Amino acid sequence: MKLREYWEKFRGAVARYDETHNFTCDVCDREVFANERVCASCMKSLPWNNNVVCPLCGRKIGEPGICLDCKEKPLSIKKARSCFVHEGEAARLVVRFKRGQKYLFRTLAELMLPLLKEGFGAADAITFVPMTERAEKERGYNQSFLLAEELAKQSGIELLAPAVKRRETAAQKFLGRKEREENLKGCFHVKERKLVRGRKLLIIDDTMTTGATADELSSVLLRAGARETYLLTVTSVPRKNPFGVLPAEPPEGNAP
Ligand SMILES: [Zn+2]
Ligand SMILES: [Zn+2]
Repeated sequence: MKLREYWEKFRGAVARYDETHNFTCDVCDREVFANERVCASCMKSLPWNNNVVCPLCGRKIGEPGICLDCKEKPLSIKKARSCFVHEGEAARLVVRFKRGQKYLFRTLAELMLPLLKEGFGAADAITFVPMTERAEKERGYNQSFLLAEELAKQSGIELLAPAVKRRETAAQKFLGRKEREENLKGCFHVKERKLVRGRKLLIIDDTMTTGATADELSSVLLRAGARETYLLTVTSVPRKNPFGVLPAEPPEGNAP
C-alpha cells in the first residue's frame, strides 16, 4: 500500500472516531472523559422523570395514581414512559436535536437505553413516528427515526418501518387534546400490515405532549393487527395544571 493510501485510511478512521465520540459534554460543553457524552455533573442535574408518573402515559404528576387525562380517555398505547421531564436542559436538548443538531441522536439514544431495557422488555420490535417526505426533506432527517434506529442497534431489537405519513398536519402547539386528535385523523397509513401483525411494538419519539401523535400512530398500528403498542420518548410534558394552561413546549412529534 502506498503512503498516500495509508494516509487516506488513517484520516478516514480519525473522521469516523470524531463523528462517533464526544470530546465535550453535549449539555454544558465542558471537556468529558473518553466514552462520555454527558458529564457526570450534567447527568446528575438533568430533570430525570423518575419521581411520580402516571402508570399509563408516564407523564409527571403531582400525586400517585392515574392522571385525569388517562382516566377520561386512556391512550391506545399500553404503557408510555419518558426519560426526562420536558424542562430545563432536557427540553433544550430536544429542541436542539430537532433544529439541526442531528448528531445528538447518539447521546439521546444512550440516555434512553436503560429505560428501554428496564421498562419495555416485552417489545419485540421498535418503530418511529413517520414524517411526510416533504417535511423530512426540509429538516434533512426524521429525528424519531434516528433515535429508533440507534436504539434498535443498541438493544438488538428489530427496527420496523411499517407506516407512512400521508399528509401534513397543522402545527399543534396551540391545540388542545381534542383538536390535536382531529388534526391527526387519518394522517398515518400502514403500508405493510404483515410486518406488524401479532407484534408488540415500541414507538420511539422525541417528546410526548398530550400523546395525541403517538396515539394516532398506535391506533393505526393496532388496527393493522399489532398486538400491543408502547411509547418511549426523550421527554414528556408534565400533565397540564388544573387551570388548563399548557407550559411552553415545542410542537409535538413531527409537526412542523
Ligand atoms: Zn456537562
Ligand atoms: Zn396518564
